[in-house]
Amino acid sequence: MSERLGFIGLGIMGGGMAANLLRAGHPVTVWNRTASRMEPLVEMGASAVGSPREVAEGSSVVMICVSDTPDVVAVTEGPDGILAGLSPGSVVVDHSTISPSETRRLAALAEEAGSSWLDGPVSGGSEGAALGTLSIMVGGEASDLGRVRPYLEAMGKSITHTGPVGSGQMVKLVNQVLVVVNQLAVSEALLLAEVGELDLEATLSAVTGGAAGSWMLANRGPQMIVRDWRPGFTIDLQQKDLRLVLEAADELGVPLPGTALVFQLYRALQRRGLGAEGNHALVKALEHIVGAEVGSEAE
Ligand code: NAP
Repeated sequence: MSERLGFIGLGIMGGGMAANLLRAGHPVTVWNRTASRMEPLVEMGASAVGSPREVAEGSSVVMICVSDTPDVVAVTEGPDGILAGLSPGSVVVDHSTISPSETRRLAALAEEAGSSWLDGPVSGGSEGAALGTLSIMVGGEASDLGRVRPYLEAMGKSITHTGPVGSGQMVKLVNQVLVVVNQLAVSEALLLAEVGELDLEATLSAVTGGAAGSWMLANRGPQMIVRDWRPGFTIDLQQKDLRLVLEAADELGVPLPGTALVFQLYRALQRRGLGAEGNHALVKALEHIVGAEVGSEAE
């Protein structure tokens, strides 16, 4: 028998994730700040309520997927927040990407209320949320993960227990370092190829399958050479995650020179009004410096 599930935050990610819980036959209560976003889920069988507190009152597992650290704090604390409605013995699973240290503070508050907190940030983009193929990295007690695993399996294909609470967020930040420094390498490589008058398609096909291959090169390289900047993940959200990476690195005293450079390059693109473009538009910041443009728009 499924427990009664709650879902808070029905944006690009949360909307798809909650829909997959419903498709798997779980009973789901939803709340979203902008009420109209609850309608498609209600049509699929969800119950809509008026606050995060009411979601918690009606659910023993409460999932969150909102934008940033202050937003998770807003839906958790306060008179209409999750903690005000949580019954002892419940589990909160936060799928947002937020600060690991703030995660540990919120987990301690949940524990004081007799409940548990799991941090379960995701990767796999909007496609992964819609198709139920996300990677979910989960920090917290193994027994709590065991309890919610059947629900997570409706949303993700890879579910990894990363360690104690906060470690899921930390692994997600490690993931983001790999994503952006790799994106910088792809950008520099394609600019060199461009100025060296190489055939860009042939170059990609030659290097993608070898030791230099990567998800970023295979998926975003072809988009970059036809100058298609539609986002899988926007520069603005990428920058939010890099701020979290650099804050965590600062708390730990770890220098991350490559990541810091990419953060500044994305900042330059945000100043030019390009924050809604995909994170592979990083190359545009280098094009400015090099004085050349990669590829050309498809006919
Ligand atoms: P989104 O489409 O912008 O949705 C954000 C959601 O958060 C909306 O439901 C929004 O409500 C809600 N929200 C924001 N601030 C709030 C507040 N103060 N109080 C209540 N609700 C609030 O974003 P998303 O792409 O789904 O991203 C959600 C999380 O997943 C983020 O942490 C993001 O970094 C992470 N993530 C995203 C991707 C991706 O490819 N998009 C991939 C991996 C991880 P409204 O509808 O009222 O605005």
